Amino acid sequence: MNETPSEPVAAGCCDMHLHSVFSDGSETPERIVELAVEAGLGAAVLTDHDTMAGVPRFLAAARAAGLRAMPGLEISADVPGRTVHMLAYGCDAQEPRLAAALERVRSSREARNAEIVAKLVRLGAPISMDDVRAEAGSGVVGRPHIAAALVRKGFASDRGDAFGRFLARGAPAYADRYRLAPKEAIALVRGAGGVAVLAHPATTGYGGAELRAFVADLAEAGLGGMECLYSGHTPPQVEEYVAIARDLGLAVTGGTDFHGANKPNIKIGIAYGRLRVREEAFDGILARLPRFE
Ligand code: AMP
Ligand code: ZN
Ligand code: FE
Ligand code: FE
Repeated sequence: MNETPSEPVAAGCCDMHLHSVFSDGSETPERIVELAVEAGLGAAVLTDHDTMAGVPRFLAAARAAGLRAMPGLEISADVPGRTVHMLAYGCDAQEPRLAAALERVRSSREARNAEIVAKLVRLGAPISMDDVRAEAGSGVVGRPHIAAALVRKGFASDRGDAFGRFLARGAPAYADRYRLAPKEAIALVRGAGGVAVLAHPATTGYGGAELRAFVADLAEAGLGGMECLYSGHTPPQVEEYVAIARDLGLAVTGGTDFHGANKPNIKIGIAYGRLRVREEAFDGILARLPRFE
């Protein structure tokens, strides 16, 4: 058999936004490294929600595979009525203040999840926390796992339906949780030796002058970069975000927000197929890490 190996789809590129079983992704850190190597990526960063528990395994697997990597994390920040996520690169997971803040965020999640489940019971969709935990394995439990439990128990047709009818902000089973203010997150990340990057700016709902002012304020507080390249961004959005980043002296980063089977249309390194993030984006963050100064 004469099989020509297919050209790796994302040679010379990186993916700086990846989720594993340690939060709401379906794949292990080791499997993600394999997929990254198969795609031809030169560098990758695991950015699980509110935890760096998967990072040591990711770094070890990456080292063994010759893939460049650094510690990563994604923090959901508190801006009322908006979705503001902060990516953190290069943090020391042992730094006490960051570790304590993440611990507080995670324990607030547990209380919030229980509140959602109690609301679901009252709404006639009786699932239990055990059902939810069964979907999450040992990772950080979030609404995607509650959605999966609702689908498994037949109370929703798919995860989108579960969010739309029960779990989305404003839906009847929604409950909020403790979040760090964006500037608080930035300070903690920097205090732990890392660089803070505003994730997928489109989801903030801000655009134009409002977005620019929002990001400028964060930049003054120490924001180091902006995830201009992202699976869901349109070309005009990318252009707008890159211009803002340039003007404010922020690093331009990018990633897919890979979640494995939990977001099956998003492929590592290429998202829906067209995204490519040059490895220079990874280097741009490395260059901003204090130990490289
Ligand atoms: P949590 O951090 O537990 O509040 O869950 C947030 C996660 O739920 C996000 O990262 C998304 O993956 C997912 N999510 C939020 N809103 C929706 C929605 N409307 N439809 C589908 N998934 C959503
Ligand atoms: Zn997620
Ligand atoms: Fe996010
Ligand atoms: Fe994410």
